Amino acid sequence: MPDNTDHFDSTLQGRLPRVAVLLALMFAVMLPQGTAAQDALKERPRGVIFFIADGTGPATYTVARDYLRGQNGPGTTLSMDLDQKGSVMTHAVDSRITDSASSATAYATGVKTYNGAIGMNPDRRPIGTVLEAAETNGWNTALISTARITHATPAAFSAHVPLRAQEEDVARQQLGKGIEILLGGGRSFFFGPEEGGRRGDSTNVVEGSGYHLVSTRDDLLAATRFPVLGLFSNEHMAYEVDRRHTQEPSIAEMTSWALERLEAAGEPFFIMIEAGRIDHAGHNRDIVAHLADMLAYDDAYRAAAAFASSRDDILLLATSDHETGGLTLGGEWEGGGSGYRYDPAPILGAQSSIERFSRQYREWIASPETVRMNVTGTLEADFGFTLGESDTFWMDRFLATRNLDGLGAWLEDLLRDRTAQRAAVHWSTSGHTAVDVPLYARGPGADAFTGSLDNQDVGRILSALMDADLEAETKKLRR
Ligand SMILES: [Zn+2]
Repeated sequence: MPDNTDHFDSTLQGRLPRVAVLLALMFAVMLPQGTAAQDALKERPRGVIFFIADGTGPATYTVARDYLRGQNGPGTTLSMDLDQKGSVMTHAVDSRITDSASSATAYATGVKTYNGAIGMNPDRRPIGTVLEAAETNGWNTALISTARITHATPAAFSAHVPLRAQEEDVARQQLGKGIEILLGGGRSFFFGPEEGGRRGDSTNVVEGSGYHLVSTRDDLLAATRFPVLGLFSNEHMAYEVDRRHTQEPSIAEMTSWALERLEAAGEPFFIMIEAGRIDHAGHNRDIVAHLADMLAYDDAYRAAAAFASSRDDILLLATSDHETGGLTLGGEWEGGGSGYRYDPAPILGAQSSIERFSRQYREWIASPETVRMNVTGTLEADFGFTLGESDTFWMDRFLATRNLDGLGAWLEDLLRDRTAQRAAVHWSTSGHTAVDVPLYARGPGADAFTGSLDNQDVGRILSALMDADLEAETKKLRR
């Protein structure tokens, strides 16, 4: 059996081309000929826009919609709401709970694999991706992420390494694929320490690659030629709530810029856009950063949907790799369940991520006598909180014992709780969860994604719609 049909537990074989007749007959009962899903598989879009909102489960869509309804009225929807086709099961082969590397590899290759794998099958052998096949077919390709561009999700489309931490290898591989547009954070993996990076081999991998390097929002908006490498931050790009608008473009700005350039080039194209930091805010149980990044993603999807509706040959596909944080809307804070209390309106009364607060805190503790003033001032100005009597008692205890690390950790927990409590939401974990994630699609081929799909089936359907010969790509990689 060829490698791209490893782990043949799909419920969708009946929809896909090049499968055994027997299997087609077996599944014909479940998926009769002539259904909308079957017909949609025959469609061939000339452009594919694939959004992956990292660590974004059903509750995140709801809290964002509810927030917007509070702002704009009860009929308000998210930009993707009307495009919902179904949901995705995200498990990895070695764990019911996936990581981003495994799930993104399933989307990129149609092969479910182990946690940590970047473009590798469970036997740790490289497998071709839809992006590589698109390049072979003469399409233009693009990757965008608000995380490091070498991070798991964009890496899974553009590199092959057994472990996601091998980001130096990922950076080098990404620049050798013929990708027209690469935009995100992660500058440090493209340069050695003497140029402000952290490559162990001290190599500048951008030099001689042919890429036009841009580092700021203005540089990007002025850039017109391919291939372009936009690295706007040494590590991940800023959370939307912390973003300096002159330095870093928003995810919507990167999306619009890329779509305009791809449109102008006139070739068919594949673009994957990751809203990468919704996940990080979930890990940090930071509802402020989480919601603000989700709303920024909603803006990016709206921009892409407007672009897609100006043509009739663009497939817009959007899902998540997994849920993060176990977010609950209507959390139990005072006993007696939620008490039917939940209101997202106060969340964006805060104007800072907890990560940014912690970064500032580490600067303040260089002069311990300023800590108390800086903490109380910043909690009030950036988060809208005044400390109560018992909070002040505990802070003074930490300060009296010079336990500044302890105070920092205590303040982070305080912020996690207070920002969640005033909206009556609750986090249940600082990690990923196994819950299904929603899937959205519009345009030619969209109906092929109808139903409750396994993540590898999303990759298989996508490769069929793109005429992407993943087996041929896999053979090339193993030559
Ligand atoms: Zn994560």
